[in-house]
Amino acid sequence: MFRRIALGLLVVLTAIGCRPAPAPPADQAIVILISIDGWRWDYLERFAPPTLSRLAAEGGRAEGLIPQFPSKTFPNHYTLVTGLTLAHHGIVSNNMRDPVIPGRYSMSNRDVLADPRWWGGDPIWNTAERQGKVAAAMFWPGSEARIGGRQATHWRAFDDDLPNSARVNQLLEWLKLPEGKRPAFLTLYFSDLDNAGHDFGPDAEQTRIAALSVDRSVGDLVKGVAAAGLTDRVNYVIVSDHGMAALSRDRMIVVDDYLDPATADIVDWAPVLALAPKDGDVEKMYAALKDKHPHLQVYRRDELPAVYGLAGHPRLSPIIGIADEGWFITSRTETGRWDRHERDAPGGTHGYDARTKSMQGLFIASGPRLQRGLIFKPFENIHVYNLMCAVIGIQPSQNDGDFAVVKDMLR
Ligand code: AMP
Ligand code: ZN
Ligand code: ZN
Repeated sequence: MFRRIALGLLVVLTAIGCRPAPAPPADQAIVILISIDGWRWDYLERFAPPTLSRLAAEGGRAEGLIPQFPSKTFPNHYTLVTGLTLAHHGIVSNNMRDPVIPGRYSMSNRDVLADPRWWGGDPIWNTAERQGKVAAAMFWPGSEARIGGRQATHWRAFDDDLPNSARVNQLLEWLKLPEGKRPAFLTLYFSDLDNAGHDFGPDAEQTRIAALSVDRSVGDLVKGVAAAGLTDRVNYVIVSDHGMAALSRDRMIVVDDYLDPATADIVDWAPVLALAPKDGDVEKMYAALKDKHPHLQVYRRDELPAVYGLAGHPRLSPIIGIADEGWFITSRTETGRWDRHERDAPGGTHGYDARTKSMQGLFIASGPRLQRGLIFKPFENIHVYNLMCAVIGIQPSQNDGDFAVVKDMLR
């Protein structure tokens, strides 16, 4: 089945801090799950964001959060809220086809995002509501679909133009609802950092600025929570879906060098190429790509290495090409746009093999029901769901995580 990176969750530091009051009971606890898309594991030390650094010091953090492959946004956000591997929840990519669902899944197609047939498993907002809690999603992949016949009580249709301040204010509005209506589980999502990482690369000044700007928004949230008198109930679980690797014009794999892109149904490009020949001749297209570029590993769907956990998955295209870290797969049409300065070449991307260090993300868990001063070794994002269920005192649905990995984080 799916890989298990053997990871002893090691507590490497226990700088003890004393809390004045005992942790409130689980039936009072609130979890705010915050995703800072594309926050690479090392940004916390490199950028020293004041609010996140303080929350990490007052709670626990990991040296990295290991994503699932491909290290893309939708698959990993959905793993975070279900505890499931991609093979088990079905979101195997940001872009995919299904043998029986017509059309194509993509992040920009509102209809498919709301179509429950794509989404397997039990997202935590449904786990919580089934057990009598209220849940609210200030954006999260999957929150717009009625999965298993349910949806969070509160959710917003994705709109990346909604300013971060409005996202924070919406969350605070929900938190100010009267007891009984107040959510016990909430999500909050920020995309600025991923955008900056793609446009300028992980080492750019713009990326640092974006990280600090998101940190200020988290700071506004923390202040708002305090003003609402909820500090002793709110637990922050702050994560990212993946990291970011720097790209270069010197590390481009141009598909046209091997085949005519017009002869293929190319569902996904970089760094995971997913394609099917329009004439049905898989072997011919496979041979055209296989072993042709030293930094592109090409597989038939059924032969994907076991470590990825996706071999033979029906939502994968019949041919999959995986670029090595820092390499980008593109077309002659696209490089022409860069040459003519109609568009800038990307500065960074993600999606690579999840064992690559640059693909690791952020994990901070901080609040009255969480231990203080702990630093954990990198662990897989499948375990976060069990932790959040334990904090708000609900029974988790069946999932691929192991509670033993996270139990030491709880107070
Ligand atoms: P990626 O291509 O994997 O880097 O995806 C990042 C992008 O996903 C962000 O810039 C957002 O525009 C988009 N995104 C994130 N969450 C959602 C959502 N809930 N619905 C639609 N698009 C989203
Ligand atoms: Zn992302
Ligand atoms: Zn991205």
